[in-house]
Amino acid sequence: MRIGHGQICGNCEVGHWNLRRCGGCGHIRYCSKECQKAHWGAHRTACKVNAELMQKAAEQGLDYNDQAKAIEKWIDRFMGLLIGAAVHVLDL
Ligand SMILES: [Zn+2]
Ligand SMILES: [Zn+2]
Repeated sequence: MRIGHGQICGNCEVGHWNLRRCGGCGHIRYCSKECQKAHWGAHRTACKVNAELMQKAAEQGLDYNDQAKAIEKWIDRFMGLLIGAAVHVLDL
């Protein structure tokens, strides 16, 4: 069965169309309360970090997704520089 554009539960990793967001960070999604509970032990630390990041982003008037995109862009640029440097050093 194709999952299509559904999202994947953070615990059982099964694709669903309607997932509930984590009440703490809203970043991860679960198919059921049971999955949310079962995953909490593993997610607790990340949840706190996510929630803090979101709060910081909100304080700066940034959307969390905007911040994530900015970080992605930065990594892209950094990797580009790194590869460029490696090519230079290795004289490829
Ligand atoms: Zn699940
Ligand atoms: Zn969370």
